[in-house]
Amino acid sequence: MDERVAVYGVRVDQETRCTHYNSTVDVVALKFPCCHKFYACYQCHQEDADHPPEKWGVTERDHHAILCGHCQTTMSINEYMQTNECPHCQHPFNAGCANHYPLYFE
Ligand SMILES: [Zn+2]
Ligand SMILES: [Zn+2]
Ligand SMILES: [Zn+2]
Repeated sequence: MDERVAVYGVRVDQETRCTHYNSTVDVVALKFPCCHKFYACYQCHQEDADHPPEKWGVTERDHHAILCGHCQTTMSINEYMQTNECPHCQHPFNAGCANHYPLYFE
């Protein structure tokens, strides 16, 4: 994959870590349904976007709204919710992200 997806946020690095979440496992970026842009996290959306965030509905979980910053591959919300690592490159994801699902998904 040589085409990089644009990820927005505050001090986002090559693997989509940001100023808020920047451990080795924080390599996930999420697309927001309100602006269809990938952000490194919801706090990045809060600081960078000019509108309140919207959540993905329960019927939209097959949408490829998740980006692995390590291999630049997108996956569906369903796939993401069922794994703790990237299905493509096996890079581990932050298990603590599950606590934040209600911020992104209905
Ligand atoms: Zn937005
Ligand atoms: Zn952030
Ligand atoms: Zn990956």
